[in-house]
Amino acid sequence: MARQLTGKLVVATHNPGKLKEMRELLAPYGVEAVSAGELNLPAPAETGHMFSENAAIKAHAAARATGLPAFADDSGICVEALDGAPGLFSADWAEAGDFGPAMERVERELRRRGASEPEQRRAHFVSALILAWPDCHEELFEGRAFGAMVWPPRGAGGFGYDPMFLPDGSERTFGELSAEEKHGLHGSRGAALSHRARAFVKLAEACLKSPG
Ligand code: IMP
Repeated sequence: MARQLTGKLVVATHNPGKLKEMRELLAPYGVEAVSAGELNLPAPAETGHMFSENAAIKAHAAARATGLPAFADDSGICVEALDGAPGLFSADWAEAGDFGPAMERVERELRRRGASEPEQRRAHFVSALILAWPDCHEELFEGRAFGAMVWPPRGAGGFGYDPMFLPDGSERTFGELSAEEKHGLHGSRGAALSHRARAFVKLAEACLKSPG
């Protein structure tokens, strides 16, 4: 059985978009979440070769520094026709936090490969969540969201590559969905759309006390 989480938790991220999403996901469970940014913890170098390795680096660094359980996500978008790029380097394709150039680069690379039909533009987001304790114990949960890359980008919601990602079964991109729709919070819990929400549902089932 997975170790249970109670009390205070450090959300090991300096990304305001992710922090907002994680707080929304954690809110119903009565867990008090404080972020690595708010605690002025340095952001460790993400030197792993897998999403789960980078999540573990961030979560263990925050747990060690604070003596509290810490929760970190490492995520990205893998475009099949681009051999999984940008993948681990999803954040690095942005310019000074602007994902306009990153989405243009994805589009440029897809066109270079002649990928114009939706089935040639398949992609998935991945989220690896690690919950780490100061004694080095950890739990790992992963979620994926599948869809296709569209052009031009649509919608101003979310962050990162959201306006370019059309999830399977939806006529609206992640950028056109409300936060609640993106996380599937109003459907059954298993209907969570986003990769992060899917990973979070697994984490909540294993480690958090049900809200009601
Ligand atoms: P990380 O902070 O190293 O995990 O970088 C993740 C990057 O992947 C983000 O900066 C975004 O570019 C991208 N990404 C991850 N999750 C999402 C999402 O839900 N929507 C849009 N982009 C995302």
